[in-house]
This record gives sequence, structure tokens and C-alpha cells, in this order.
Amino acid sequence: MKEQILLVDDSKSERTSIKNALGELFDDFIEAEDGLSAIKAFIDKKPGFIITDVEMPSMSGYRFLETVRQMEDGHDVPVILLSATKDSLKGKLTGFNLGASDFLIKPFNKEELVARVKSLLRIRALMTELKQKNILLEKLAITDDLTGLNNRRYFFEAVREQLALGVRHNFDVACMLLDIDYFKAVNDTHGHLAGDAVLKTLGTLLTTAKREGEILARFGGEEFIICLFNTDPDSSIKAAERFRSIIEEYDFSSEQFPKLDRITVSIGISVCSQQVASSKDNPVTIDELLKTADTALYRSKSGGRNRITLLEHTV
Ligand code: GH3
Ligand code: MG
Ligand code: MG
Ligand code: MG
Repeated sequence: MKEQILLVDDSKSERTSIKNALGELFDDFIEAEDGLSAIKAFIDKKPGFIITDVEMPSMSGYRFLETVRQMEDGHDVPVILLSATKDSLKGKLTGFNLGASDFLIKPFNKEELVARVKSLLRIRALMTELKQKNILLEKLAITDDLTGLNNRRYFFEAVREQLALGVRHNFDVACMLLDIDYFKAVNDTHGHLAGDAVLKTLGTLLTTAKREGEILARFGGEEFIICLFNTDPDSSIKAAERFRSIIEEYDFSSEQFPKLDRITVSIGISVCSQQVASSKDNPVTIDELLKTADTALYRSKSGGRNRITLLEHTV
């Protein structure tokens, strides 16, 4: 990526001497001669580094820095202030309080400027790395290792958010628990690895079959959960039937596990009507929805498995 720096100074010769000093470190030097045109250049080009003079006509370097720090993309960009003021301590304190990354007095020493810029570039690189790692960690914290689906933690967060919306907008909610039938026998007959392969494939099947807006997660073990919104009992039965039949018809055998064949799932659905979801005194919680779905699932199991049971959630 091209490394861009924004140089802001009302003196052209000053800008040129900074440019000459930093020629090795940057590919592109964007120049501005006052604070206002510097703001425009920052918005247009989003440079990754800024050096700005403090004393400039119309808008000072302090005002420019203050504006940059208030901008979404300007929180973390390194900014070095350059000042020719005699009272340097006061100026430095003002600058650092406004969020300056560093402060140098003019005339600056070339080697010192290079060293300070390099040090800020190093810190910036570390911060970028840290941010990327945090994004990865956040993703890992909500992902199930084996299937790559969202995990239980994600499910609760996402559904809670949607339920709050549901309460406000009065839509129906359905919670669907799927549990593989006789899964222990799959492990016992074909081995644990074959069982893992079934769980992975099932995750893919469910991901493919689910519609946009439906929240899917591996709930744990051989149980999966799907939450549907804006759905009445009839449509949620249809959705469950879609999942149930896709799984029933799928041939799970593979090169690695040729003897695997068919599996089935039992499904329990709890639906929550508009009135119940939005009940002012007692709005429905995700835990209550799950409890009802679990009761429904139990009925599907005891009723013979490979089937769907729906229970309407009441207060
Ligand atoms: P039911 O029809 O009543 O649901 O019977 P089941 O055998 O599916 O239910 P049970 O609760 O007796 O067994 C669930 C099995 O799922 C036992 C457990 O070893 C297996 N299991 C849970 N998590 C995993 C996993 O990550 N990988 C594999 N291979 N097996 C798992
Ligand atoms: Mg000046
Ligand atoms: Mg189970
Ligand atoms: Mg099971």
C-alpha cells in the first residue's frame, strides 16, 4: 500500500525541507498551506500520517488537529506538531492535550524528525496488528470450532437484540431446536470422527437452507438452534419441514466415511405471538422461548423422532 503523508505549513520552503528529510519513508506527499485545505485533503485522501505547522493564518495547527481528532478516521492517525513559538512548554501542553502524537520545535533537526516519525510508524503498525487480532478474537469468541457456525454466545446476543426490536415492532418470533436422532449410535458405529463429519455437514446443510434474517447456531453437542422472526405458526412449521426434509434426504456418506448413510433430526418449535412478545408487564425472554422449544423437542422425541412439534408460547 502507498504510504501517504499530509504536510501542512504556510511556508513552502518548510514543506520542502520536511519532504527532503522524509523522502525515504513515504511514497506520496500531500501538501496543504492552511488548516482548512488540510482538512479537505485529509477527508479526500485519508493519509496515514500528518505533520502540521502550528502557526498558520486563518486556522492554526491546533484547530486543525482538534478537527482531525474529532473525525472518525482521525482518532488514531499520528500527528506531529511543528512550532516556532518561543514559549515551547505552553505550546507542547496545548498540543498534547489536543491529542498530538509528538511535538517538535522549528528549526527541527533532520535526524531527530526521521527518528520520531519512524517511532510513530512503528507504534501505528503495532496498533493496526492489535486491532486485527482483536477482530479475529471477537470472531473466534462467537464461532463454534467444529462447524464454523455461530455459537451459543452469539445466538443469545443476536436474539436478545432481535427480541428487543420485536417487542417494539410487534412481530412474531419462533425458536427452533434441532437434535440429531440416535446420534450416540452414529459415534458408536462409525467412530467419533465420523460423528464430527456429520455435525460439520449438517452445519453446512442448515446454513444453505436457512433464509436471510434467520439466526442459526450450534447450540451444543448435536443440537442446533434457529430463530425466525416475523413468522406465524404455519410458516415456522413450513420452515422446520424444510430443514427436516433436507436432512432426511441427504446422503452423509463420503470417501472418508463410506458407511455413513442417513440421519434424521427431531425439531421442537416455540412460537411467540405479537401480543405475548410485546406484553408490557411481562415481555417474553429468550430463556422462556428456549424452555418451550425444549419441551416441544422432547415431545418430538417421545412421539417417535424425525418429526416436528410446535408449542405456542403463552405468558
Ligand atoms: P436422541 O435421539 O434421544 O437424541 O439420542 P442421541 O443418541 O442423539 O442422544 P444422546 O444425548 O444420548 O447422545 C448425544 C451424543 O452426541 C453423545 C455425544 O457423544 C455426541 N456428541 C456431542 N457432541 C459431539 C461432538 O462434538 N462430536 C461427536 N462426534 N459427537 C458428539
Ligand atoms: Mg507557519
Ligand atoms: Mg441432545
Ligand atoms: Mg440426539
